[in-house]
Order: sequence, then structure tokens, then C-alpha cells
Amino acid sequence: MSTFKAPKGTYDLLPPDSATFLAVREAIARPLRNSGYGYIETPGFESVDLFARGVGESTDIVTKEMYAFETKGGDRLALRPEGTASVLRAALEANLHKAGNLPVKLWYSGSYYRYERPQKGRYRHFSQVGAEAIGAEDPALDAELIILADQAYRSLGLRGFRVLLNSLGDKECRPVYRAALQDFLRGLDLDEETLRRAEINPLRVLDDKRPDVQKQLTDAPILRDYLCDACKAYHEEVRELLRAAGVAFEDDPRLVRGLDYYTRTTFEFVHDGLGSQSAVGGGGRYDGLSEMIGGPALPSVGWALGVDRTVLALEAEGIELPLPSVTSVYAVPLGEEARRVLFAKVTELRRLGIATDFAYGGKGLKGAMKNANRSGARYAIVAGERDLAEGVVQLKDMESGEQAPVGLNEIVAELETRLG
Ligand code: ATP
Ligand code: MG
Repeated sequence: MSTFKAPKGTYDLLPPDSATFLAVREAIARPLRNSGYGYIETPGFESVDLFARGVGESTDIVTKEMYAFETKGGDRLALRPEGTASVLRAALEANLHKAGNLPVKLWYSGSYYRYERPQKGRYRHFSQVGAEAIGAEDPALDAELIILADQAYRSLGLRGFRVLLNSLGDKECRPVYRAALQDFLRGLDLDEETLRRAEINPLRVLDDKRPDVQKQLTDAPILRDYLCDACKAYHEEVRELLRAAGVAFEDDPRLVRGLDYYTRTTFEFVHDGLGSQSAVGGGGRYDGLSEMIGGPALPSVGWALGVDRTVLALEAEGIELPLPSVTSVYAVPLGEEARRVLFAKVTELRRLGIATDFAYGGKGLKGAMKNANRSGARYAIVAGERDLAEGVVQLKDMESGEQAPVGLNEIVAELETRLG
């Protein structure tokens, strides 16, 4: 134990559990790589203003959850609380949208920071894998992203998740709805902060998680009844494409999500084994975001899936991912001479791509074999002075327990054959 602990709301990823975490990231990324999405990495911090404008001044993320600071040089920066604004900023800065190949499809994976009240599934440092398709208005693109997230979760063996789907309308129909909702909210018994929010961004009030607020919202006007014909047709097409792909979804007319910039298609993936932190991922269309951060009109759609909560969902379903053992061969030298000879074999095996480890620290046979066992290695190679004098090493099959001498010059080829 040292004097220090991981900061509140954070946790360390340690082996062997960290392998599951990596496998989840990989499982989410695979369908994206397979569908024309290129990898993008942006800085861990950005200008505060990017998030204020891109995520929304009235959102919890910006008002309460952002780690904002001023640098020694006087710049106002924030640790990134989400990925979309940064990715769009980077795409615009590099003129990716002018290369003539729209949509620009990008995926990312990384750490995000929000000053939240820590609880299970809600951390101050967490991981997301995300995807953004920038610069095209096409219901097939919205459907593609939902299908790829569904594929990712399924490939992990998850079954207890649901897709919630809604349309938030566009700049034609949303303002009409907004006004109607505002009228309704003004007549409710709400605290001052919520009433203020109702004036700035009334849709966000629908996202309020407090039961006493939710109870009052039962008869709130519903966006679906206000959608213009274009939005209705667009949404119907997304739903049709999902049905055709065999991806089940539930219409959730109340789904608004926490970010200001969404238009039209909005969706969330929820898992029923996670208690109150049930959202494992979410996203939607954000046709207005580019203009909000000073770019041209670029209708876009994207999602971000939470890696931490996906791992919790695996646990909730009792799924253990079939993680291949990290080490295939474990070398156990007995004595100085054997240490030199076997270390050379270890290097040779590693250069051939065979995962190999070595008993360091001059352990005795018993301790070293215990480590060999723990490593999960399929084979151990053991050599002492007498073996070396005979020009052999002992090759032990850790599964069957069988052991036989193999020539020192043959051992690498033998292991290569056996491990296929
Ligand atoms: P919630 O409503 O639970 O606060 P959110 O709407 O703020 O979620 P998004 O901004 O849409 O979440 O982020 C996408 C995903 O990232 C979430 O579905 C979740 O899996 C994950 N996520 C968001 N915030 C956290 C957090 N503080 N800790 C762990 N995972 C998080
Ligand atoms: Mg949140």
C-alpha cells in the first residue's frame, strides 16, 4: 500500500480483468472497421468553448460535470467530457469534409472525464468507443450505426439490452413543439432551476431523472405529434431499415438524451441488469452541430458506447469472454548455465510470435512451476545442468502433465509445430 489512492470516482484496470476491458473495446471497434470507419484520435482536452457551444450551455455536462481549468498561459481548457464535439472539430480543422468523400466516417476510443457523483456504473473517468458519420443525411446511415452497435453487443454475447428509438424533429418542427412543451411546463410545480431550464432548453426537462418530476410529465405533449412530414418520413425509413435488418427496437417518445445538439434520430442502448445506470450507449443525429461550432452545414450522426458499463453488463449476464491465455510457453531454468540457454530460446520463440515468459529471479523448481501454472501456459520447458549436458530440455505439456526430453536444437521447431 502506498500513501496514495486512485482519485474519487476512478478505478484502475488491472490484469486479468483489464483483458476483458480491451476485448470489449475491440469488439465494439471491429464492426466499425469492417464498415468503412477510420480511426481518429484527438487530444484529451479542448477549449472550454468548444464544449459549451457543441454540447450545450444548459446541459449537465457543461454546467456541472466539466473539468475546466485555466492554463498558465491563460487558455481556458476542459478535459473532454464526450467525443463528438472534438471529432467534428478535428474533421473540420483538417478539411476532411472537403476531400469529396462524404460521409466522413470516423471511430474513436478513449478516456472521458465528468465530475459526477460516483456510483456503480458512473465514474469521473470512464471509457467510450464512439463512431461519427459526418456530412450525409441518409436514413441508411442512422440505421447503419444502430445495426453496428447491435452487432457489437451481440458479438460479446450480450442479450439483455434494448434499443430505444425516437425522433427529435428538425429546425422546422422542433420549435413548434418546444413552444408547446414550454407552455405545459410553465404550469407545473417545479423548482426554480428546473423552471429556468424549461426556458432555455425545455426538452431537457423530459430527461429529468427525479420521480416527482417524471410524475408531472405524464401528460406532457409528445414530439411525435409535432413532427413535420419530412421528419416523419425520415424516421419511418430508419425504422423500416432496422426492421429489415432484424434489429429489434422500442419507440420511446420521451427519449431526449443529455446533449443539446441532437436532431431527428435519437437512440439509446439500455441494459436491464445495470440498475439505475442502465444506459450502455447512445447517440443520434446532430445536423446542426457543425454550424454551431463555426463550420458549414454538415448533417451527421453518431454514437458513443460506454466500455465500463458494457463490462458491467457482461458481469450482469454472467458472460465470461473466451480470452485466450496470454502466455503459451513458460521457461524454467535451473541454474546459471540453463538461465542463459533458456533465455536465448525465449527470445527466439518470441521473435517467432509465440507468447513466452520466463521464470525470473532464480526461483527453485517448485516456485517456478507454480508460476508456470499461473501463467496459463500450455507448455513449460525446464532445463537443469544434467539436461544441458545431454543436449536436451524437458518439454512439459501443462494440460496432460506429460513430460519428455526434446533436443536443444529441436525445441523451438517442436513448439512451433505443436502450437500450430
Ligand atoms: P447517463 O444518462 O447515464 O448520465 P449520458 O446520457 O450522460 O448517460 P452519454 O453522454 O450519451 O451518456 O455517453 C454515452 C455512454 O457513455 C453512456 O451510455 C454510458 O455508457 C457512458 N457514460 C456516460 N457517462 C458515464 C460515466 N460517468 N461513467 C461511466 N460511463 C459513462
Ligand atoms: Mg450523464
